[in-house]
Amino acid sequence: MSAQIIDGKAFAAKVRGQVGEHVAALKADHGITPGLAVVLVGEDPASQVYVRSKGKMTNEVGMKSVEHKLDEATSEADLLALIEQLNNDATIHGILVQLPLPKHLDEDLVINSINPAKDVDGFHISNVGLLGTGQKSMVPCTPLGCLMMLRDHHGSLSGMDAVVIGRSNIVGKPMAQLLLGDSCTVTIAHSRTKDLPEVVGRADIVVAAVGRPEMVPGEWIKKGATVIDVGINRIERDGKIKLVGDVDFASCSAVAGAITPVPGGVGPMTIACLLANTVTACCRANGLAEPEGLTA
Ligand code: NAD
Repeated sequence: MSAQIIDGKAFAAKVRGQVGEHVAALKADHGITPGLAVVLVGEDPASQVYVRSKGKMTNEVGMKSVEHKLDEATSEADLLALIEQLNNDATIHGILVQLPLPKHLDEDLVINSINPAKDVDGFHISNVGLLGTGQKSMVPCTPLGCLMMLRDHHGSLSGMDAVVIGRSNIVGKPMAQLLLGDSCTVTIAHSRTKDLPEVVGRADIVVAAVGRPEMVPGEWIKKGATVIDVGINRIERDGKIKLVGDVDFASCSAVAGAITPVPGGVGPMTIACLLANTVTACCRANGLAEPEGLTA
């Protein structure tokens, strides 16, 4: 193996440490405690795990954590009423509605009912538009975490060729916008891309966000490229359940210059960036200077 491993777990701990310092300063200097409200509708087991670890880490950095667990059959009107209440609560600076929502609830309607200034997931249509036009916004956590790791590894990304595989609203598209914002030449590849190996082979930076286990082999990767693996796939191997990414780690790490592992790469950065977004939202809400290095 030749690639340098980009240690997302260690980087995320550093980001959480920085967030914790800002939270302590906000309390000491201004008497303000940033607050994050997480809303979970239904019993989805994966969502329950995410919400638990979000709450735990929110408390660990000294922020106020509020969880609203609603019944699977909750009506849209009741959910919207709760969001309105949180929008008007001055002690809450960030609101996250855990996705996916049960089928009878309109996800777009629900997300767009969150006050954009409190939309720490960065999914509100206003934040999508602000990001797309290069204005100050709340940036989706997973792509923000990828950007932070890339900036940390490379310094400037200016002029680099970047290929994002996947065009979802939560990862692929905002990732491409962020890379464009850092002056990369960006290609978005997807399920209909004609010659994916050729497209990926041009890239100095490859971000894989597909949801297909180990889909990208080492022979597609340009020697020395940086590979960011967003995928989280559970597979069975040798009779055991294993987590793997969207890239084949063994072959890609033999050619890449740097690579994020799964687990321990992008995953831990996502929650760290949620906390970073909450502290940023709190500073903006109170007209205070934003913490440096925690936003795009
Ligand atoms: P999605 O299903 O919404 O989008 C997948 C994208 O991949 C689509 O745009 C599709 O066009 C593209 N695609 C599908 N098959 C393809 C193929 N054969 N070739 C090229 N492109 C193809 O998925 P998503 O929500 O963006 O998530 C992608 C992966 O990232 C999943 O494994 C998910 O679990 C993971 N994820 C991880 C984190 C994290 O915190 N690390 C956060 C979000 C998502």
